[in-house]
Amino acid sequence: MKKTRIAIVLTLVLGLFLTVASVAYAADKEITILHTNDMHGRFVEDASIIGIDTIADIKANTPNALLVDAGDALHGLPFVTLNQGKDAVALMNIAGYDLFTPGNHDFNYGYQTLLDLAKLADFDVLSANVKKDGSPIFNATVVKEIDGVKIGFFGLSTPETLYKTNPLNVAGLIFDDPVACAKAAVADLQSQNVDLIVALSHLGTDDASEETSIKVANAVPGIDIIIDGHSHSQYNEGLLVGDTLIASAKEYESFVGVVVIGFDGDNKVVEKSASLIDKETAAEKYAPDENVKAKIAEIEAKQSEVLDVVVASIGYSLSSAREPGVRTQEMPLGNLVADAMKAGASAQIALTNGGGLRADVKEGEITVRDVIAVLPFGNYGVTKYVTPAQLKSLLENGVNSAPAAVGKFPQIAGFTFAYNPDLAPGSRVTEIVIGGQAVSLTDTTTKFLLVTNDFMAVGGDEYTALESIKTENEFNALDEMLLSYIKANPDKEYTDVEGRIVVTDAVPAAPPAPEIKVTLDGAALSFEVPPQIINGRTMVPLRAIFEAMGAEVVWDPDTQTVTATKGDLAVVLIIGDTSPTVDGEAVALDQPGVIVDGRTLAPLRFVAEAFGGTVDWVEATQTAAITK
Ligand SMILES: [Zn+2]
Repeated sequence: MKKTRIAIVLTLVLGLFLTVASVAYAADKEITILHTNDMHGRFVEDASIIGIDTIADIKANTPNALLVDAGDALHGLPFVTLNQGKDAVALMNIAGYDLFTPGNHDFNYGYQTLLDLAKLADFDVLSANVKKDGSPIFNATVVKEIDGVKIGFFGLSTPETLYKTNPLNVAGLIFDDPVACAKAAVADLQSQNVDLIVALSHLGTDDASEETSIKVANAVPGIDIIIDGHSHSQYNEGLLVGDTLIASAKEYESFVGVVVIGFDGDNKVVEKSASLIDKETAAEKYAPDENVKAKIAEIEAKQSEVLDVVVASIGYSLSSAREPGVRTQEMPLGNLVADAMKAGASAQIALTNGGGLRADVKEGEITVRDVIAVLPFGNYGVTKYVTPAQLKSLLENGVNSAPAAVGKFPQIAGFTFAYNPDLAPGSRVTEIVIGGQAVSLTDTTTKFLLVTNDFMAVGGDEYTALESIKTENEFNALDEMLLSYIKANPDKEYTDVEGRIVVTDAVPAAPPAPEIKVTLDGAALSFEVPPQIINGRTMVPLRAIFEAMGAEVVWDPDTQTVTATKGDLAVVLIIGDTSPTVDGEAVALDQPGVIVDGRTLAPLRFVAEAFGGTVDWVEATQTAAITK
């Protein structure tokens, strides 16, 4: 701890703060709410993570401070998933957390486990809108008194939890209307004469979400501050919505949020502000708390035994080589992971990026540690419905740099596809087969349930087409899925590739143009050069039809002119000219006559009517029925 420096900095910061604030008010006392959100199990310091040990030090060195978290803390990295969140709660206890509201991912172990974790917590676990049989399963509100100030807190959890965790985890629960529950909580707290009302809200501020903290701030009077999570938003100075200050500290302990509230002698709020402490500042001004640091070391030592547990034994090895390997082609390890995702999410098809596979699995005994090493990032499964056309465009992204090795190269399950790296990027996928059936690559209606990872689901690795497709469900971490799958399928072998991804030199055949038929007075005409669509116009062989109608046709190659006569009526058409003449009168054409394979083609209506005929188009049979 570097107390002297902190004291100086605090004096400077407070001095500046008081100068600004004292223009209108003078705060008699200040209370600080330190906050985190969306930690997703990132508790241990690294290049971008502040570390819960340092966060503890920030709290210990901030006067009148509360430390709160706005959800999605207990699940994510193996560090917290290995014993289903218990170590996470133990660390938050020692670090001095005061309050927590569960986010959707905190339900990932099932809500019963979350209730058990809440019992282990020394901090308050609040949520006003998570209900079973009509009653909240957590406390809705709590009042904390600091320096004589009564602060009322309530919690809100996103209704998106119904699909942003495995639905089995929340079966039987209701995520009630956040606005209605917030109004009730505010009324309850106001009746207890609190001086400040703070919502801990895992709703987020994304436009894509129906229930947001902005909506709550607008609809519910009386909330002074919302400490928010879920959208991973970074608000450097908070977001003021009406009189409500919304604060959010991005994600993964990359920041610690600081909300300072100034009160006058009557405990009335005279000032509130939000700011963020970044990783660099935290490392410079604070030191890891020794107790928390020791607890982390203890957890890591204990986990190392869990990590050494053998889950399976295989008679072959699985390579995660990049090139040639998971970033250039189908690989057995990719097949295994994709199969595990497909099974773990009960999806029809799976697509994951080869770059996400980070370690080999060696022949022999496989430990938990080996499995986690393959998928170390705590990414989780996300399902979305895709059409064959959408799947094609996703795969086009996956192979558009081939044969160069790229992290986005797909590893798949539940379908096969072929692509030709010699074709232009974006047009390389020539075939997709799902369930043994080749699907139409232009099919935009049939839907298949796809599981991918959360990184790709929001457009990572340039899978931007996925971002706009609605999420059906979110699931467990990929390493958890892989572990379950290996345990459940001990005899399944992944010794070789299976032809899921085929490189071809085939050029896709152009779709056959519909055949256009021409009849004259009901009799079908046949042509050496068939009628065809040119620039959107139906063009038919002029000479053959004119002759069938009884005209004589003369071709002058020098002037590129066709002259047809029947009785004393003459029709003259020059190739490329849009004004042929009929009996000396010019006729305007949209599309001039052209020569195709040595035959003159001219617009159907002109040809049919030049010698007084009429034409009907029969769409069902693609037939031009000419009557003389
Ligand atoms: Zn969330």
